[in-house]
Amino acid sequence: RAKTAAYRARSLGGDRTVVLDAGGTSAARLRRAIAEGELVVHYQPVVTLPDGAVTSAEALVRWTDPERGPVPPDVFVPRAERDGSVVELGRFVLDEAVAQLVAWQGRPGLPRTVAVNVSYLELCRPDYADDVLVTLRAAGLPPAVLVVEVTETTLGRSEEHVLENLRVLREAGVGVSIDDFGTGYSSLSRLERMPVTQLKVDRSFVARLGPGTERTPVLAAVVALARGLGLPVVAEGVETAEQAAALAALGCTHAQGYHFGRPAPAAVLGTGDPVTRQR
Ligand code: C2E
Ligand code: CA
Ligand code: CA
Ligand code: CA
Repeated sequence: RAKTAAYRARSLGGDRTVVLDAGGTSAARLRRAIAEGELVVHYQPVVTLPDGAVTSAEALVRWTDPERGPVPPDVFVPRAERDGSVVELGRFVLDEAVAQLVAWQGRPGLPRTVAVNVSYLELCRPDYADDVLVTLRAAGLPPAVLVVEVTETTLGRSEEHVLENLRVLREAGVGVSIDDFGTGYSSLSRLERMPVTQLKVDRSFVARLGPGTERTPVLAAVVALARGLGLPVVAEGVETAEQAAALAALGCTHAQGYHFGRPAPAAVLGTGDPVTRQR
């Protein structure tokens, strides 16, 4: 299996470090990291605008390699997407998020829903949606407590199972969010037919909201588009009160960013008992 991943990484012309990683292939290394408990999930609050009430949280994975220290997800997630181990990574994050949702259920002021990032390769698996629904049911959770975040790029790739999985999840009541919206040239005509419940505006557009910048046409257009489609819109990367106010004025319904809270262990969001599952 590891051999296949290495071969695939090489045949894709991928970077050689994937193949020559000291701990074996990067896929084997990540799988070991999961098994050894080196990965944890942090949660970043998503709030409503303009009041700033916490409604949801995004699950963001963190890896601390005992030898190399923290490895940024921007480094290891793309690698895991290339070598296939993102399937195991996604499974780990989903299990953690579901356990955390159980602990948060019915606690006022704590997230009612959790969003997980889902990669293209996960959605290509024919039984992805069924696995997710079985996991939720086993935990006694209604499907609506989970949101899957899918990038525009993933949605744009024509693999039959991707859309089918999203439709099954959507029909069962799971939320489907388009992540990094505005960066991937979504076909606007297709958007109407997509099983989507929410748009997430990429933080590059929010970053342009600041003193001295009065025109943010793409941001305004994305918010207007979401409203036209009747979808909530989350602005990511909100770092200042001024940005939050400007977004609320544009009609943006939700926000996420350092201004409201950084990604942190679940306990930081207010619960007394963060969940660490026994493996
Ligand atoms: P993303 O899904 O777009 O996640 C948002 C990123 O923005 C996170 O980076 C978050 O820490 C960062 N962020 C949040 N608020 C602010 C802010 O106010 N200012 C700035 N400058 N940044 C902010 P992070 O945690 O480093 O994750 C990077 C990317 O890695 C994510 O981008 C996502 O694509 C991927 N990723 C993270 N966790 C997972 C996972 O469990 N599965 C998968 N497939 N991908 C993941
Ligand atoms: Ca995301
Ligand atoms: Ca994003
Ligand atoms: Ca991003």
